Amino acid sequence: MGENVCLGLDVGGTSVKIGLFTVDGALLDKWEVPTRTQENGKYILADVADSIKARFAQSGRAMSDLVGCGIGVPGPVMPDGYVEVCVNLGWKDAYPAKELSDLLDGVPVRCNNDANVAALGELWQGGGKGYHDLVMATLGTGVGGGIILGDKIVSGCHGLGGEIGHFRVRRDETEYCNCGGQGCLEQYASATGIVREARRALAADDRPSALRGFEATQAVAGGPTVDGASAGDGTLTVDGASAVPAAQGGEGAAGGGTLTVGDASAVPTAQGGEGAAVSAAPPLNGVLTAKDVLDAAKEGDALALEVMDDVGYYLGVAFAHLALTVDPEVIVIGGGVSKAGEFLIDIIDRHYRKSAAISERKAKLRLATLGNDAGIYGAARLILD
Ligand SMILES: [Zn+2]
Repeated sequence: MGENVCLGLDVGGTSVKIGLFTVDGALLDKWEVPTRTQENGKYILADVADSIKARFAQSGRAMSDLVGCGIGVPGPVMPDGYVEVCVNLGWKDAYPAKELSDLLDGVPVRCNNDANVAALGELWQGGGKGYHDLVMATLGTGVGGGIILGDKIVSGCHGLGGEIGHFRVRRDETEYCNCGGQGCLEQYASATGIVREARRALAADDRPSALRGFEATQAVAGGPTVDGASAGDGTLTVDGASAVPAAQGGEGAAGGGTLTVGDASAVPTAQGGEGAAVSAAPPLNGVLTAKDVLDAAKEGDALALEVMDDVGYYLGVAFAHLALTVDPEVIVIGGGVSKAGEFLIDIIDRHYRKSAAISERKAKLRLATLGNDAGIYGAARLILD
């Protein structure tokens, strides 16, 4: 008999990340399987099951040591595990947990939305370790969210629990979020949203800014996340580096959908040519990214600071509303944008405090620590209840 182990799967549009853990949360092994989305994604879980069996065989580990598997899926998951649609995997009317369990000869499998699962991972072994009540926001290509109360994911009756990226925070927005709404938090606080807000600010007047030295060719207009139904969750992985280049660890967000550089450029300057003004000032420093905006703000660039102050305001208000709704112990902020670290936390915190002034005794804002691995950690933790 070997030691008991569990598996956490983070299913994304380009790859499935798989982590093998002890039941105490120690990561033993980690690997990836390409995501074959052809034919409505029918091969994805079969490929995963084959890979798991092969990996266990190679390492001399018995499948009987596997106590279970958890899956994070980039889309809404109903309480019974039903996935109505998962755009970037091609799944429709799917029961991924049941399917994988069958493929693994009856091993227990549980499934939840990837942003929720990432929150559970941070609670288990990350920035929320030691707590039981947590809200997590993942600021990547989109804005994902997860709520954990009493060590349990709050996914709600319709799988919408924690969809904080689609809080409406602005009423005068003219562009649409990919959820169909206008003025969603994700349209401002995601990596793509920060870039878009910066471009709007640059186009609004002629004042000098370090951000004027960037190419205008790839204005990211609409927050083009891929994951239609649960836009906040489908977040970029490797190519997140294109949105936030410093995120060398591939700090996309909670996991799911991927967005390539090409996808981003496929969304043209929908800002009524606002981007055009930007191109006037050489030298060109390449395509503007959220990291550029944050770096400029850190250097004291007034325009970048204004943009980040707006972003911080929207996030601060959203967190305040969450704090006064579920009153968690801690609010954890992850995703590529969170690479900006305490600088970003401080901006958000200022607005957060003002927006929930009723008490100083409320959740503290913290940085996530697991990066892209939050999804596999949380998925593995899913099965341990
Ligand atoms: Zn939305």
